[in-house]
Amino acid sequence: MLSELNKSDIGLLTFQCNICSTINRVPVNSLNRETPSCSKCASTVRMRGMIHALSVALYQKSLPINEFPLSSEIRGIGMSDWDTYANALANRVSYVNTYYHKEPKLDITDIKDRDESTLDFILTTDVFEHVLAPCSRAFENSYKLLKPGGHLVMSVPYSLENEDNQEHFSDLHDFKIVEKNNRRVLINETSTGNIQEYDNLIFHGGEGDTLEMRLFSEAGLIKNLKDAGFIDIQIMKEPCFEHGVYWRHSWSLPLIARKSKLG
Ligand SMILES: [Zn+2]
Repeated sequence: MLSELNKSDIGLLTFQCNICSTINRVPVNSLNRETPSCSKCASTVRMRGMIHALSVALYQKSLPINEFPLSSEIRGIGMSDWDTYANALANRVSYVNTYYHKEPKLDITDIKDRDESTLDFILTTDVFEHVLAPCSRAFENSYKLLKPGGHLVMSVPYSLENEDNQEHFSDLHDFKIVEKNNRRVLINETSTGNIQEYDNLIFHGGEGDTLEMRLFSEAGLIKNLKDAGFIDIQIMKEPCFEHGVYWRHSWSLPLIARKSKLG
């Protein structure tokens, strides 16, 4: 076991990456949600925070992936998860990474072909801000796919300031994104036939459509989860120094939400 902080090196943190198990020593103030900080796998605090949250959800303690008990009984899916942790998870439990644009496909807003109540966990990091409105479908369908007692482990960017989520395109119906004067513009025909044009688009990195559809608020996100039926919603604010999970801010943190054992 590692000591939490090596007191002789103030400001330096020794941690074990919970994704590749490498021991790292880094300045604490270099740890950031989106900055690679594992010298071997380049995991970020967000990626390690997701695995920390998953481990707490499944095993009530924080384990590196290679110490997850081997079990084909535990079933989970990811949504365009980072390959490095997706591959490591698939070696320990029955886990399948899914994609919006390629096989194995999953559109979480439309799960009509999927068996419900089959999953012990769903991992989804920074995806739900991109799904088509209403985003409530993504939460409801996640709930349906989980077994009773199963866990949604998720993150999205969210604000602490707003009461409600802010939908950027609330009337999206038949839309496309086109280039116009070297800028990407969204043109939408609403369900009543009105044409709208938006040019202040925010794209996030990644494959395919990564247009930001909304900015969640913490309160709006919790409401989405509760409305879908989730209980025991736990925002993972506490650090896990042992695994290099330390948040210098209190927004956009991973969270765990549970489906009741009663289903
Ligand atoms: Zn690593």
